[in-house]
Amino acid sequence: MVRQCASAKLHSDARATWRHAEFVSRAAVEADMPQFDPHRGAAPDPSTSPASPASERYGDAPRRRPLFAGVFGRLVGPAVAAAILWAAWPWLQPKLERAIYAARLAARPAPTALPVPVQGVAARALRDTWHGARSGGRKHEGIDVFAPRGRPVLSATEGIVSRVGTNSLGGKVVWVMGPGRQMHYYAHLDGYAAIRAGDIVAPGTVLGYVGTTGNARGTPPHLHYGIYAAGGAINPYPLLKLPPTAGAQRR
Ligand SMILES: [Zn+2]
Repeated sequence: MVRQCASAKLHSDARATWRHAEFVSRAAVEADMPQFDPHRGAAPDPSTSPASPASERYGDAPRRRPLFAGVFGRLVGPAVAAAILWAAWPWLQPKLERAIYAARLAARPAPTALPVPVQGVAARALRDTWHGARSGGRKHEGIDVFAPRGRPVLSATEGIVSRVGTNSLGGKVVWVMGPGRQMHYYAHLDGYAAIRAGDIVAPGTVLGYVGTTGNARGTPPHLHYGIYAAGGAINPYPLLKLPPTAGAQRR
C-alpha cells in the first residue's frame, strides 16, 4: 500500500516535470531561444560551438600534424625548460640559497650570549648605557663600544646583511638580520668592509671600522651597537659576555 502510494507520487511528479519541460520548450520557441529538449538537455549554443568541418566529423581528410611530433616533440618542452634553468642558474642559485638560509635563520632561537662586536675589546671593558638620556628626549637604545678609530667592527652573529648605508644619527651604518628574526645595527662606522646587502656573514665577519660618523661627530670613536627584536630594541649589554670572535683579521 505504501509502495503503491510512493509509486503513484513518482508518476505524478514525472508528469509534472514533463508538462513543465513542454512549457519551457514552447516558451523558448516563442522567445527565439535555443530549444530545450527534455531528453537531451539544452541545445548547443551556436555562438560558442561553431559547426565542425566535414573533415573532422568524418575523419576522411589528412589531419594537420603538430609542429613537433612524437618523441622529439615530447623532448622539446623539457629541453627548453632545462636550457632556461641552466642559463639563469648563476643568477638564481644565490637567491635560492639566501631564501633557504633566511628561513633557517628566522627559525633559529635568538642568541643568549654574543661576542663583543669590536676587535680587541673585552666584555669587562663595556659599560651599560642602555636608556641613557640622549638629545631630543631620546633614550639610548644600544651600547657604545669605545675603541680606536679604524678598529674592525665584527658581526656579533651569523646572518644576512640587509643594509649598508647612511642615516643622520648613525652616520655610516650596517644592518644584519640575525637568528630569531633579530636585527643587528652597527653605527658611526668610519667606513665599510667589502660587504653588500644580501651577503651572508658569520660571527666575526668584518662589517666596517670604528669611527665617529652621524651624531657621534666630535665624540671619542665608538661603535653604537643595537639589537632590535619583534617588540623593539633590547639591551645588548647583558648578552655581550663572549670575547670578540677570533679569526676576523681583515683590512
Ligand atoms: Zn650609542
